[in-house]
Amino acid sequence: MRLILIGPPGAGKGTQCQRLAGMLQVPHLSTGEMLRVAVREGTPAGRQASTYMEQGQLVPDSIIVGMVNQRLQSPDCREGCLLDGFPRTLSQAATLDELLERQAMSVDGVIELAVPRDELVRRMLARKREDDDPEIFSRRIVSFEEQTAPLLDYYARQGKLASIDGLGSADEIFARVTLAIERFRARSRRR
Ligand code: AMP
Repeated sequence: MRLILIGPPGAGKGTQCQRLAGMLQVPHLSTGEMLRVAVREGTPAGRQASTYMEQGQLVPDSIIVGMVNQRLQSPDCREGCLLDGFPRTLSQAATLDELLERQAMSVDGVIELAVPRDELVRRMLARKREDDDPEIFSRRIVSFEEQTAPLLDYYARQGKLASIDGLGSADEIFARVTLAIERFRARSRRR
């Protein structure tokens, strides 16, 4: 299964993806994590990306798309994968469709973790990550609302979207996520 998790910063995508990757036995592909590794290792891509990341801005597609494409073609992604943090724009979604099509694959389902803005801010203040400076965090939320939220409509029109309430304990949310996946499975069996 090829799944995408979409949600604003602090929605808990990382936690849910880790559990889901274990359950589905597919790799968890987090572009944010790939970029953080590249920055730590000081690779050319990492050096280019870091200025954008520090500002809470999206890294240019010229850096991201190659990384994702290479990862999607690895043998461990043949049976499926869980995409976390990609696609983040309509243009990335179109690129992803093309990349998958070349391998005769497609996106099976998209899960939105919906969390209200004030809850995101509360969570951000309760945890601490380098890019969790309040001003930068708000910029990441705005980037989500302006650039990533339109993807929800894009996938809804294809009948691939399940929107899930992202409030509650990690266990409660995981139960909702697994239910959505059951529905994706049932739908693909009907096809
Ligand atoms: P994340 O851990 O997914 O919140 O990503 C951390 C940061 O990496 C983001 O704020 C962006 O600067 C960058 N990033 C991650 N994924 C993408 C993407 N698909 N397109 C552009 N920038 C990205």
